[in-house]
Amino acid sequence: MAQIVILGGGESGVGAALLAQAQGHQVFLSDQGQLKDVYQSELSQHQIPFESGQHTLERILQADEIIISPGIPEKSPIVQAIKKQAISLVSEIEYAARYTNAKIIAITGSNGKTTTTLLTYHLLKEAGFNVGLAGNIGQSFAKQVLTQSFDWYVLEISSFQLDRCFDFTPDIAVLVNITPDHLDRYEYTFENYIHSKFRIFQNASAASTCILWGDDAVINQYKSLIPSGTQLKEIHFAPISGSATITDDEIVFEAGSIIRASAPIQGPHNAMNMAAAILAATEAGVSWKSIQQNLPTFQNAPHRLEPCGEWQGVQFINDSKATNVDAVYYALNSFTKPIILIIGGVDKGNDYSVLDELVKNRVKGMVCLGTDNTKLEEHFGGRVEKFIQTDQLEEAIKEAMGWANEGDIIMLSPACASFDLFKNYEDRGDRFKAAVKKLTHGS
Ligand code: ADP
Repeated sequence: MAQIVILGGGESGVGAALLAQAQGHQVFLSDQGQLKDVYQSELSQHQIPFESGQHTLERILQADEIIISPGIPEKSPIVQAIKKQAISLVSEIEYAARYTNAKIIAITGSNGKTTTTLLTYHLLKEAGFNVGLAGNIGQSFAKQVLTQSFDWYVLEISSFQLDRCFDFTPDIAVLVNITPDHLDRYEYTFENYIHSKFRIFQNASAASTCILWGDDAVINQYKSLIPSGTQLKEIHFAPISGSATITDDEIVFEAGSIIRASAPIQGPHNAMNMAAAILAATEAGVSWKSIQQNLPTFQNAPHRLEPCGEWQGVQFINDSKATNVDAVYYALNSFTKPIILIIGGVDKGNDYSVLDELVKNRVKGMVCLGTDNTKLEEHFGGRVEKFIQTDQLEEAIKEAMGWANEGDIIMLSPACASFDLFKNYEDRGDRFKAAVKKLTHGS
């Protein structure tokens, strides 16, 4: 029996606690914040001791192994203290993977993880696979390993989880892209973040399939980090061809082609996500016929280029999940109609100049929505014909509607975090959709 300590009592921490207890270990869970009632009662019900609102260092440092929540940064005093004692420190993904024989498809990237993960899961599930969905989505991987007996898992994996993965070896690993994000957790060094993302391939062998976007400059530059001898599948935009080649209106695979016009998600970035998901699914053994049959019924999660209403020929799009500049770049690239862009929130050190060309060609008006819009105003103020700023969502939509003509698009794609005016990106998107509904129905 080992002493296992869990740091962080959210979905993944509580799942890990239950799994560790079921393995016969002595478990203690510690959370510096307030544990949600539902998790407190779950732990109590299983007689797992826990503390909420503090970390008792002496007790934590008695552990043989510690499972840490991805939300706790490396530089926090607790992690520093654990590292001094050289206690094994792992993610819930690393821990839970030890206790399942299921095959694993693991998906990471700066943008597109959720979309690619959900689509891969959809393709396997609809093909009749006994498959679970976990990682950053829904019920924790650890809890499902404990309570289910899936043959396959599709896992969405963040860089923070990868930082604490050592032996985790997905059968199929997918890296959709790498652009700067979360640099505050990586000593403001992009290279550290890149190395973190490449950990998804660190144990890949001849039996592993590695899928990546071959046109991504960063991925290309660091591709040599992938162990040699793996089954490498590259996705390319034409004219270069790969295991999947994306042209203007179709994705061509070695096994055949898919017409993108009938695709359930739009835009070049989603063509990339689809290519990755389809490659992963076919590698898992899903037939080409099944993919063609089930691809059109895929429904993406909300807040990702989500159409959410129409008014006098103007279309509304909720892209609240676009919390970095790269996501906005692809959002602007996904439409040819004139766009009125609602942008802003908490700036994460953004470099907006990558949007300049697209803003010039596609954005007819810009509404900055945030408590401090200085940086956006400085950058875009003189570059777009119509520009205003506000800290009121309803006003932002009203202004945009005042500028819009039939055939235009009004899109919320903020490039920023939401915490200045909203609880989180879901709250921002939900309130945008509700306000659109109210304004368009009242007009
Ligand atoms: P993640 O889980 O990595 O945050 P999502 O699928 O939730 O990714 O999408 C997040 C945001 O990024 C959305 O605004 C979406 O439109 C955009 N996006 C999705 N896929 C890509 C991609 N391959 N490249 C760039 N942006 C993307």
